[in-house]
Amino acid sequence: MAYELPVECPICHDVLEPDRTLEHHLLRTHSHLEVARHVASTQERVAVSADATAN
Ligand SMILES: [Zn+2]
Repeated sequence: MAYELPVECPICHDVLEPDRTLEHHLLRTHSHLEVARHVASTQERVAVSADATAN
């Protein structure tokens, strides 16, 4: 089956059109600062949950 799951933007949670890529959406919709902040917050959450697991 060629059906592909819809891609949801991790920043604004918009569901992208099937012919649009997440990269295209990020470039068109979000600034570098927004993307950077999102990546940074994701990394911080990973670090926090890793700490919680260790304790
Ligand atoms: Zn978005």
